[in-house]
Amino acid sequence: MCGIFGCILASGVPPGCLASIANDSLTALQHRGTESSGLVGTSGKDNDHFDMVRGKGLVRDVFNEDVLKSTFNESIAILGHNRYSTAGMKDAINCVQPFVVHAVVGRVAIAHNGELVNVASKRSEILKRGVGLSTDTDSELIAQIISKAIADHVRSDNSELGDISKELETVMEEVDISYSLLVMTYDRIYAIRDRYGNRPLCIGTLRPGANALKNAQNGSGQSAPFGYIVASESCALPSFAKFDREVRPGEIVEITRTGIKERYRSARLPTPAFCIFEYVYFARSDSLFEGQQVHRVRRECGMRLAKEAHIDADIVSTVPDSATAASHGYAQKSGIPYEDVLYRNSYVGRSFIQPNTELRQSSITKKFGVLTQNVSGKRVVLVDDSIVRGNTMGIIVRLLKQHGAKEVHIRVASPPIVHPCFMGINIPDTKDLIAVNKSLEDIAAEFGADSVQYLSVQGLKESVQRGIEASKYPQVGHCMACLTGEYPVDPYDF
Ligand code: SF4
Repeated sequence: MCGIFGCILASGVPPGCLASIANDSLTALQHRGTESSGLVGTSGKDNDHFDMVRGKGLVRDVFNEDVLKSTFNESIAILGHNRYSTAGMKDAINCVQPFVVHAVVGRVAIAHNGELVNVASKRSEILKRGVGLSTDTDSELIAQIISKAIADHVRSDNSELGDISKELETVMEEVDISYSLLVMTYDRIYAIRDRYGNRPLCIGTLRPGANALKNAQNGSGQSAPFGYIVASESCALPSFAKFDREVRPGEIVEITRTGIKERYRSARLPTPAFCIFEYVYFARSDSLFEGQQVHRVRRECGMRLAKEAHIDADIVSTVPDSATAASHGYAQKSGIPYEDVLYRNSYVGRSFIQPNTELRQSSITKKFGVLTQNVSGKRVVLVDDSIVRGNTMGIIVRLLKQHGAKEVHIRVASPPIVHPCFMGINIPDTKDLIAVNKSLEDIAAEFGADSVQYLSVQGLKESVQRGIEASKYPQVGHCMACLTGEYPVDPYDF
């Protein structure tokens, strides 16, 4: 997935506050990537120098407050990235973004969310040009494409040094999908979304006294801008930011100290293919996409699931926390009371892949305690947002039954995942997907559950599209390829 973030201070605002804004925003985007984190800052004076702190681990492990403050004390613009890798070496430190290249115009920093579907052909094209690559990441390929475009472009005498908007159009033309991209030169930031709008990206204005959600709804908040911010999700905007809008599919937006400007919109716009799994699972519930809060969609998915896959039961519950909204929607629509059945220990770190069932169960029990008095003797509807490999569901069902559950019925608030994702999400090869070539009865038997039912494709589509205001978003479309096999571009064609 990855979380990307950029911020630039308005003209006249002195440097000194970007470290804390960046730290808070990257922390808010932590759910999008936990492998590594990085920040790159510019003072706006030297096109050949960026300040940088990057490392492996969570935001809180990588960034020390004192180091951040001293490193970015002079910065007027900053770019940040939380990494979740699907392409490239997971453990190599040189894969940590933002990626910095030395181009003809000086240094250029790049933060990328997504995965290029034509990565193999692009990689071989670049290698054949005689350019050595130092990582396996597709983000480095983007850096090389930009770098070459800058070198190729004949710059007129009066062209601004930091302006590379023309060159960035090359990325749009050469690379189809999937990327949301932030590119920083010494004095400005560009926000770019692929022509399908596959990954999210939004822009806001920092205004003391503003409130992000309130302003998104009523357009108020007119105090003088303090700065401009761009991020994967609106949850990363500080409370004093005004949510302006999402970057449009195929758009290049330039953000300088004087404001936000659309620099390019591709003339070749296909049907949008915004990843529907942002709504289902990836994004934070309080983020806004297409004018609606993710939480609303998740709740509605649960309500539709209750209509499509009703079962008589005593309680509705969930595996905390990602399916909480859907389980409450299911409970509301079905009239069956909601009851917690699991306590989640938030202090337990990563659960490692264990070689056998006993060890896997032990690692899950460290994470979850069973609320026996709520479960014992009950018929339980257990709602989950999605099931990919199904590694943990069987263990949880067994735990609930060991604690006295009479029946456990699994209800999934999205359709079965039966195809891999080639666009930046770790949905693996079909052989690893639990729902491939299995009946619902087979899946229930594998989990030891009494029944399994999924939300229909139509149900998910309607849950998402019902809350989108047609006047503001006349062109909507969502990628559902891992559910339907209908990819926005043919992934096997490269
Ligand atoms: S294939 Fe699935 S996970 Fe990948 S972009 Fe499309 S909807 Fe999202």
